[in-house]
Amino acid sequence: MFNPPPQRLRASREAVGKLYDELAKALPSGRVIRDSDILESYAQDESGAGSYPPQLLVRPLSTQHVSTTLEAAMRCGVPVVPRGGGTGRAGGCLAIEGGLVLSLESMNRILSVDPGSMTATVEPGVITGDLHEAVEAEGLFYPPDPSSLDSCHIGGNVATNASGARNPKYGCTRNQVLGLEMVLPSGRLLRTGGRSLKGVAGYDLTSLICGSEGTLAIMTQITVRLLPRPPHVETALMLFPGVDLASRAVVAIMRAGHNPRALEMMDHVAVDAVRGAAPFRFPEGNQNAVILELDGTDREAVFSELAEIGEMAQARLGASLVLVAKNNSERRDLWESRRVMSPSLREKWGMKYAEDVAVPLDHVPRLVELVHRRAEQSEIACSTYGHAGDGSLHVNLLFNDESAWPAVTKAAEGVYRDAVSLGGTITSEHGIGLIKRDYLPWEQSSPLIALQRGLKNLFDPEDLLNPGKIFLP
Ligand SMILES: Cc1cc2nc3c(=O)[nH]c(=O)nc-3n(C[C@H](O)[C@H](O)[C@H](O)COP(=O)(O)OP(=O)(O)OC[C@H]3O[C@@H](n4cnc5c(N)ncnc54)[C@H](O)[C@@H]3O)c2cc1C
Repeated sequence: MFNPPPQRLRASREAVGKLYDELAKALPSGRVIRDSDILESYAQDESGAGSYPPQLLVRPLSTQHVSTTLEAAMRCGVPVVPRGGGTGRAGGCLAIEGGLVLSLESMNRILSVDPGSMTATVEPGVITGDLHEAVEAEGLFYPPDPSSLDSCHIGGNVATNASGARNPKYGCTRNQVLGLEMVLPSGRLLRTGGRSLKGVAGYDLTSLICGSEGTLAIMTQITVRLLPRPPHVETALMLFPGVDLASRAVVAIMRAGHNPRALEMMDHVAVDAVRGAAPFRFPEGNQNAVILELDGTDREAVFSELAEIGEMAQARLGASLVLVAKNNSERRDLWESRRVMSPSLREKWGMKYAEDVAVPLDHVPRLVELVHRRAEQSEIACSTYGHAGDGSLHVNLLFNDESAWPAVTKAAEGVYRDAVSLGGTITSEHGIGLIKRDYLPWEQSSPLIALQRGLKNLFDPEDLLNPGKIFLP
């Protein structure tokens, strides 16, 4: 979406004013805000989709505050947009139709970490990295690790069904969510699932809400399953002289029967961009990298599997070098270079458009080839990296001048078409939000989209909860 639609205010000034008066009386002081400077700071996210300041901001402290806000907003005909950490890449938390942004940032308590049931229950505003720390202190493990974990919220993660490097072995956020407390647009409170690890009663509404991008309900409590923390982790960096070799190696490793917890690929453009920006020093030259990480309970077994894969990579898959992290500090340095990849590319090139497509695993090498061809045809520089072990790829189109947008659009649309034609998807983890709603019909049939619109209508008949997202108006 390279032509951000203008903000079209849905509710009249009178309706917003009436809502402000009502909420200012009902909620504690300071929780309902209409100071324009503060509203402006809630106008954007990390999608680069544009600036859409809300007309009101509410920062609830409790589920009751969320319910009161929704009920009043629906009555006044004012749109409500839930917001977590604002790190979304799809424009999901932008107030495209104005109205009220409901920021869950103050509902940030970890309510329980329970080793007995191996679950944790949290409010949605908990920062994902804080949840990691809290559960690891109990010897437990919450696997989803989006690269934004220092600033994104668990509520945002559930709403976008976020995932990260550990997806190949442990899956995405949805795989960990056992139960939800949520408020429907009407203000009514609903609970799904619970702390039991199994349960198949009725439709799986917990899974439906995961990934619904704040368009069906607002989550106010989330219960996730925890795993025992794997005591042994081994990490290796494999370098390849070509991105084709690196991408084929990823497929070969998975098909050889290994179950790495992470298998990340980065092309030489990305590796060059992080030289100097990350503590790990990549060797000079045209280096295309694969980071491999294994975990388990038996140290010897984990290490010998890592060594076996490393030998295979050098003997049969074309790796020029395999380096094993000797300790936690080297492991952190390696991952830090992966984490700073996106900002480093932006810094080096000035502007970038980032895609998050995915294809069936065995088509990753073909996708890499097609992506580079699309970029060449549009005369746009390009870098590919990402969680290739689960078939997903971040495609970064790199440029430094606004005038390149038409060529960038052409290349990006070509990438969507290629991903879909290979049996994949236009979004592996960031969601459709605002920026890809034009393209959803490229991937999904009209009956499928119509069925989803019907669901949206059932939850939100007035279309006031995060309107304009996922589907074209
Ligand atoms: C540097 C960087 C790295 C990233 N790496 C990854 C990655 O590795 N994997 C990945 O999946 N994503 C990644 N992302 C994208 C982003 O961090 C995720 O989409 C994240 O889940 C968004 O969480 P948030 O709290 O910031 O949500 P926001 O951006 O605030 O909102 C995202 C969506 O969730 C909805 N929402 C938020 N809270 C609630 C709630 N309580 N109830 C209902 N709806 C709600 C919003 O309406 C919106 O539609 C990255 C982003 C950046 C900037």
